[in-house]
Formats: sequence, C-alpha cells, structure tokens
Amino acid sequence: MRIVLVGPPGAGKGTQAGRIVDRFGGVHIATGEILRSNAERGTELGRTASRYMDRGDLVPDEVMIDMVLERMGEGDCAGGFVLDGFPRTVPQAEALERRLEELGCPLDAVVSFEIDEDELRDRLAGRAEEQDRAEDDDEGAIRRRLKLFGDETKPLLDFYDDRGLLVRIEAKGDLDEVTGRIAAALAERGGRAGAA
Ligand code: AMP
Repeated sequence: MRIVLVGPPGAGKGTQAGRIVDRFGGVHIATGEILRSNAERGTELGRTASRYMDRGDLVPDEVMIDMVLERMGEGDCAGGFVLDGFPRTVPQAEALERRLEELGCPLDAVVSFEIDEDELRDRLAGRAEEQDRAEDDDEGAIRRRLKLFGDETKPLLDFYDDRGLLVRIEAKGDLDEVTGRIAAALAERGGRAGAA
C-alpha cells in the first residue's frame, strides 16, 4: 500500500509506521530520521536542515521535495511505502501527488493521528529523555513545531479529504489499540495484512 501519516510531533507516527510496515509491507520513509542521520554525518543536506530543525522550523519545501522524490525513485518503493513526516505542507503534497500521478501509482490512504496538545507535550518530554532528541527538549522549539503543525500541516487534512483519502484515527491510548484502529481502517481500504 501507499500510505501517508499526518499528525503533530509526538503523536506516535514513527512507532505506528514501523508496525504498519510489519503488517502491510512496504518501506518506512521517515523524513525526520533521514535529516537527523544526515546531520550526524555532517552532510551538506544535514548542515542545511539542522539550522531549521534546531529551532523547530520546517526545512524549506524545495529541499524536502528533492530529498523525498529522490528517495522514492529507489527501487524498494515500488512495493509500497509508509511516508512518516512528509508531506507537511500543501506544496509538498502537490509535488508528491504530481510524482505519483506520473508513476501511475496514487496513494491508497492518508492516516490522520488525532490527539490533544496536553498529551503531546507529555510525550515529547518523555521522548527527549529517552532518545536524546534536542528538538524535543526545548520548550520554544516544541511550541514552534506545534504552531507550524496547525498553520502548515493541518490544511493537508482538507486537501486529502477532498480526494477521498483521509482516515482519522484516535491516536491517544494503548499502542496496540492504536495499531488495531489503523490496521482496521487500512484493511477496509483494501490493504491485506501480511502482504509483505
Ligand atoms: P520529525 O522527526 O518528523 O518530527 O521531524 C523532525 C524535524 O525535521 C522537523 O521538526 C522539521 O524541522 C524537519 N522535517 C521533517 N520532515 C519535514 C518536512 N516534510 N518538511 C519540512 N521539515 C521537515
């Protein structure tokens, strides 16, 4: 399946993406992870991205679009993918849509992780400690990321709802329950668990 996960930082997209790939197959493409790995290796992309990530800002659309479209050109995406963290803006969604149209393989579903802000702040604080993610430990950066989610990313929900792709999932609660809700919604849309 070709799936996009949309949700605020801390909503559990990364964890659930891994579980969706285990059940439905495809590759997990996590843009934040790709950027962090580039930053650790000191690549040009990593150095550019760090300037934005450290403040909680979004990396510019053209950088992200080039990076993701290149990643999607690698052969392993042909069997499906779970995009975790991209698109985050309407121009990114439009670029993705154009590329998938060219390839003749449209998205199957866009899963929106619905969760309230207090729960998110608790989760981000926990994650900063567990995973040593500097951007989760800075109150200003957290506030900025949540604001950008509202301003830039939330409009994607209407974008994908208009295309009949949007599935809203209650993302609060037990991990297994959330996975169960997502799997049920994807199965309804024609995904076969264990298709990997
Ligand atoms: P994440 O791990 O998905 O929360 O991403 C961490 C950081 O990487 C974000 O706060 C952004 O600075 C940057 N980032 C990841 N994906 C994108 C994207 N699609 N567009 C812009 N910036 C991104």
